[in-house]
Amino acid sequence: MVDKKIKKRVKELREEIRKHEYKYYVLDNPEISDYEYDQLMKKLEELEEKHPELKTEDSPTQRVGGEPRDEFKKVEHSTQVLSLDNAFGKEELKDFDDRIKRNLSTDNYEYIVEHKIDGLSAILRYEDSTLDIGATRGNGLVGEDVTHNLKTINSIPLKLRKENIDLQLRGEVFIKKEDFKELNKKREEEEKNLFANPRNAAAGSIRQLDPRVAAERPLSFIAYDLVEFEDSQKEINSHLQALEFLKELGFNINWYQKCNDIKEVIEICEKWVKKREEIDFEIDGMVIKINQLSLREKLGSTSKNPRWAIAYKFPAQQKTTKVKDIEVTVGRTGALTPNAVLEPVFLDGSTVSRATLHNEDEVKRKDVRINDTVLVQKAGDVIPEVVKVIKEKRTGNEIEFEMPDKCPVCGEEVYREEDEAVTRCTNISCPAQRKESILHFVSRDAMDIDGVGPSLINQLLNNDLIEDYADLYYLNKDDLIELERMAEKSSKNVIEAIEASKDRELNRLIYALGIRHVGSNASRILTKNYHSIEKLKSADKDELVKIDEIGPVMADSIVNFFKSEHNLKVLKKLRDANVKLKKAKSKKEKPQHLKEKSFVFTGALERYTRKEASDLVRTYGGEVKSSVSSKTSYLVVGDNPGSKYEQAQDLDVKILDENDFVELLEGGN
Ligand code: AMP
Ligand code: ZN
Repeated sequence: MVDKKIKKRVKELREEIRKHEYKYYVLDNPEISDYEYDQLMKKLEELEEKHPELKTEDSPTQRVGGEPRDEFKKVEHSTQVLSLDNAFGKEELKDFDDRIKRNLSTDNYEYIVEHKIDGLSAILRYEDSTLDIGATRGNGLVGEDVTHNLKTINSIPLKLRKENIDLQLRGEVFIKKEDFKELNKKREEEEKNLFANPRNAAAGSIRQLDPRVAAERPLSFIAYDLVEFEDSQKEINSHLQALEFLKELGFNINWYQKCNDIKEVIEICEKWVKKREEIDFEIDGMVIKINQLSLREKLGSTSKNPRWAIAYKFPAQQKTTKVKDIEVTVGRTGALTPNAVLEPVFLDGSTVSRATLHNEDEVKRKDVRINDTVLVQKAGDVIPEVVKVIKEKRTGNEIEFEMPDKCPVCGEEVYREEDEAVTRCTNISCPAQRKESILHFVSRDAMDIDGVGPSLINQLLNNDLIEDYADLYYLNKDDLIELERMAEKSSKNVIEAIEASKDRELNRLIYALGIRHVGSNASRILTKNYHSIEKLKSADKDELVKIDEIGPVMADSIVNFFKSEHNLKVLKKLRDANVKLKKAKSKKEKPQHLKEKSFVFTGALERYTRKEASDLVRTYGGEVKSSVSSKTSYLVVGDNPGSKYEQAQDLDVKILDENDFVELLEGGN
């Protein structure tokens, strides 16, 4: 038995630390220095180390816990995560408002306007005031369990600031502009791949199996919606109340503004188009939501979007600049791409000095010439493109572009098929293709091998140390030390990074192979259907096209990939080097006798904490919900049950006491 005094001290320390985390991360108003905070944390760690029986999941020391996972578990969302309809410009906002008016037959409603934070959404579930599960949105119905990574974010409370609360909320995980700069600077110093933008960096961090990676990334969290919540003590009727309540519970909430009509909404949206630069994180628009929850319910949703909210998208930033040159690069499939080399301009948070011109036809269509003044913008995510040429600025010194008839890298013939827009180098051992396919192999969404960048790959190819990506696994430290800019330590790091990549998930490997048309999303889908490279290799076209989202072009490309002698040799080399070519087996299978049963808990159980009980239900295939409905299979009742008990009785839901519950759990054995 641990001394009562120590127990009490641990409890006090935790409360103290939580208070300071709240002051620091949420209120932005710290009361003690970082040093003092670290001391408190150290003290708590020491006590927990000495008395492991006092450790709890929601202790502030448990932000980075446990071993890396083998794979992501799926989480079924109890409330579907819909996406938001978009409005471009004020006319579309007015249309939105007209629809609302028509549907509600009144103009007695209010809007809340918020920033549309450019990160990724996370869905958090708290049970008994403790963080239970954090998930990604996934396809809206099923997301991925990323609790281990979300726990590392200091602005996500592991324990709420009020007792006895079950709820579900949504918010955005993101990286602040300044933190992003720092992060990339550090990565540059360590010769690691740079992130394209804060959103990619945030998303990449959350999609990691090892929580230590996320813990090192400067992630922030802002809560923006309360989704499920029930408490007889507290009634929430509006979004405003919900936001304020979330704040009381310990979440960071963001700026918001109440508006009485669409005119005010439009004014605010247009104001933020310019002011967006002033905020310390990136926003890509504004979100407009009906404030009254009863009206939201009345409006309901379509199969894709709620009818009570809309996202006002900011126009893409455009700037004019000069085309200094047009350079042709060769990609991993041998495709020649013309690129405009630009006078650098600052655009949507980064400096842009190149823009893609896609292909020969595109250059002709836009009539882009060297020395032209052009309008550029960022397309979709990251790749800047030329919108149009400002022809009035022409001086007569412009030079028209011509596609080269030889590969700019190897000098061999290039070839353009009649019905294709793309010109390709015909040389299968073109160094550009090799280099690009290796770069693709090591890239972040593929095998994610740090330290192997363009300059190292060039040297390895030029010194005949490798021919293809599989050869990376046969390098040793001495091969590398000889090379430029490589020393003992960096060589060792590179070899270790290569070694570590042997264990990557199967979907990454499939993507890394560089099969044409197979992107990282398709790789995930393929992994679901084929659990090893061997199985994928023996799939035929008919079988492949039956899979949702795999079309005939992709299927052909997959089949052809595995027909090539060259590719088979490369695969053999990967296998011989012990690169994992199979999906990781999930841990031993438990009986799934609670499948399709849903459980709700109320009151305290004796044998289990709420979290343990919920985990057990899920291990046996059941679902845990936070509120009772007519679809609930069982309500498990412990000591001091809440209002759910009466609701369950009203709805004729089967009620279990702790013993019944244990019996049901054991039913599968
Ligand atoms: P979309 O991806 O275009 O459907 O837009 C919906 C996404 O906007 C959500 O999944 C959130 O990730 C994101 N978002 C950012 N800020 C907010 C906000 N204040 N309210 C709701 N969603 C937001
Ligand atoms: Zn070539």
